[in-house]
Amino acid sequence: MSEIAGLPAQAFPAGEYLRDEIEARGWTVTEFAQILGRPQQAVSEILNGRKEITPETAIEIAAATGTEAATWLRLQSAYRLWKLARTDATERATTVARRARLSQLVPMPELRQRGMIPTGADLDTEESAVCDLLEISNIAEQPTLQFAARRSVENAPISPPRLAWIACVRQEARRGPSAIPELGDVPVLATETVRRLSDPSALATLPGLFADNGIRLVYVQAFNSGKIDGGAYIDDSGVPVIGLSGRIQRLDSVAFTLLHELAHLHLGHLDSGITLDTDVCAATDNETERSADRQAVRWALPEPIGLAAPISKRAVVARAKAMNVHPALIVGRLQYQRILPWTHMRDLTPNVRGLLAAW
Ligand SMILES: [Zn+2]
Repeated sequence: MSEIAGLPAQAFPAGEYLRDEIEARGWTVTEFAQILGRPQQAVSEILNGRKEITPETAIEIAAATGTEAATWLRLQSAYRLWKLARTDATERATTVARRARLSQLVPMPELRQRGMIPTGADLDTEESAVCDLLEISNIAEQPTLQFAARRSVENAPISPPRLAWIACVRQEARRGPSAIPELGDVPVLATETVRRLSDPSALATLPGLFADNGIRLVYVQAFNSGKIDGGAYIDDSGVPVIGLSGRIQRLDSVAFTLLHELAHLHLGHLDSGITLDTDVCAATDNETERSADRQAVRWALPEPIGLAAPISKRAVVARAKAMNVHPALIVGRLQYQRILPWTHMRDLTPNVRGLLAAW
């Protein structure tokens, strides 16, 4: 049986301390009961530890002995906890602590919902599923994921949804073909990606295109509160992996996130660890992120958009055709630059969630 942390090796009922106080004053139990105005039997039971001291009694004892009421309650609680530590309460506390640890690491309800943790599994099975996902040998171990860049500047440890997401990407990437060619020409791949996405249905062909160019491309749906758009890293065998979450399901956001992750690869950012991008369409002060943003924009729209306000839908479509890109990329850029409100030209930014989910 394990001990509850912070408890003394031995504890005594509060009544024993009270007996010392009474004796120190030369009182008998009868006299003390009279002082309290309580039946002698009740006082004897407290002294023998058979009856607990209520807050009301603690106030009266304190008034009689010139001590603090809180002291008596503290002594009593300490004794109760000490006694409980010798029962199965300790075992229950251990179970609670194990469950809490799992929830500190990953979003358990969502993992159960996604079937990544078997429904109705016992705690041992849940623990082993989480250990497998995070590639740790026990839940006390800290997952070893080294991050090179994180878009949101926070010093806080990585949150459970973000950790779970990148771990799911890693798991998904391992399901892909084991043999993958050498890394291709990344700028050429980026340009080809943009060209293909002038037809959104070509999104379905990207994992194959990327695999042919030595990159594993996977989709793992975003967790509810992680705000993750994408991430990338080099796996143990030296193969780059890019994960997309489709948190924002517009074609332009998905395309931009993908190009942004490719930019991290191209600019050598992945050499020092994982990149994890949250809120990729928002501005950032992080210079690594800004350089990846600039590269992604150059790939998405190599020429200036060159449209003067007021900008019509027809002008956007015509310009997109001339630039051989999908109009969503122009709309997204103009919205990012606040030239167009976010609510405008929504019909030019198709939702591609279904295509992503089919990867
Ligand atoms: Zn980034």
